[in-house]
Amino acid sequence: MTSLYRAFRASVLVNGSPTDEFIVQRGLRQGDPLSPFLFILAMEGLHIAFKRARELNAFTGLKINLLKCKLIGVGVSFTQVEQLAERFFHNPNALWVSVIRALHGHSGRLRDLSAVGAHFGPWKGIISAFRHLKDRGDGLKIFCQIRVGNGQLTDFWRDTWLGSTPLFTQFPRIFALDDSHATSVADRLRIGWVASSLRREPRGGVETEQWEAISALIQAFVISPQQDRLRRTLDSLDEFSVSSARYFLDGRSLFSGGSSTCWNNFVPIKLNILLWRVALARIPTRDNLVSRAIVLDSNLCPVCSSCLETTEHVFADCVELRGIWSSISRWWNIPTPSSVSVVSLINWADHSKLSVMQRKCFDPVICTAFWVLWNFRNSFIFDSVKPRKSNIFDDIVSRSFFWLCNRRKNCKMLWGVWLQNLAIACNM
Ligand SMILES: [Zn+2]
Repeated sequence: MTSLYRAFRASVLVNGSPTDEFIVQRGLRQGDPLSPFLFILAMEGLHIAFKRARELNAFTGLKINLLKCKLIGVGVSFTQVEQLAERFFHNPNALWVSVIRALHGHSGRLRDLSAVGAHFGPWKGIISAFRHLKDRGDGLKIFCQIRVGNGQLTDFWRDTWLGSTPLFTQFPRIFALDDSHATSVADRLRIGWVASSLRREPRGGVETEQWEAISALIQAFVISPQQDRLRRTLDSLDEFSVSSARYFLDGRSLFSGGSSTCWNNFVPIKLNILLWRVALARIPTRDNLVSRAIVLDSNLCPVCSSCLETTEHVFADCVELRGIWSSISRWWNIPTPSSVSVVSLINWADHSKLSVMQRKCFDPVICTAFWVLWNFRNSFIFDSVKPRKSNIFDDIVSRSFFWLCNRRKNCKMLWGVWLQNLAIACNM
């Protein structure tokens, strides 16, 4: 049987014709008739082996003897594991302990080893998410305000508890004079907030100014017997809610602003997407590519070779191409926008006296024009045969006709009328 599985070869049918044969290194062939029998054979043997082991008392089911179990750290020293386990049981009220309890039960799986089996710790995920936010400058501390009670859990210099920034940024000169940098509010005030508790007394100027300011703040502050608490500034209630945090983070990281997008059903989605990207100046013009550190021979317009190829240039400014807009203006018998730009062209119909039906056909034409211009530019750069400029306008007329005919309901538009009388064509 081993030889049957060790050396078998397979080939794959692609469009009905088999590929070259290859040796299968893992798994079985699809639909292998031997595999269910193989499973039965192996399970049968395993079952008999287990039965015999139990009869001989070689193992006693799946109970784990906790007295014989040990916590073993992976990638950390044994002392660290011991310290962490100890802290877990001695700080029942700490936030991290509550999190672990919520995820892993009351003993945090430390006493219930039979349940251990997860291959990754949830802490790993939590910590990496936290780190990720911090790297982006969105540390969760932004919306957590400390309400100091007895001051034991608040870092005197580095937490924001008096004023709107940490004390070490408000009073850097006093921070430099203080030796106890990593100390809690409770511990720091126990030493006594007097000038003699510093490494040396403040020597006039800015030092004395900062000393007086910070002393006034601290003397006005009263310690209370309650524990320090975090207050979430996002919610009116003190509770943390995932939705408010999500809303806050989205607001900081997602793209906002821009105008609402008008989706036009009479042209394919790809045109709508192109127009949307053009409006945001997010198309790969040479100028855009160079600004993203992509090395190009030139960032000039490939068609006129005289200006930077920006989005505005391709569609509105290029001397070689902007004639298209006047051609459309003559065809539809409406004036071009007073200042030709991407935005004014997209909204061209807003400033013209077109009927509702005409407008329904005009917007797709504009959309098509952007599409044809961008295609012209691309084949100008990449095709071996240069496209002809004189075809651009004809292309716009015929493609927009094609799309309108196929996408408008019950459209009976005729090609001849489309060319000669738009007022009639749009109502057909
Ligand atoms: Zn140009």
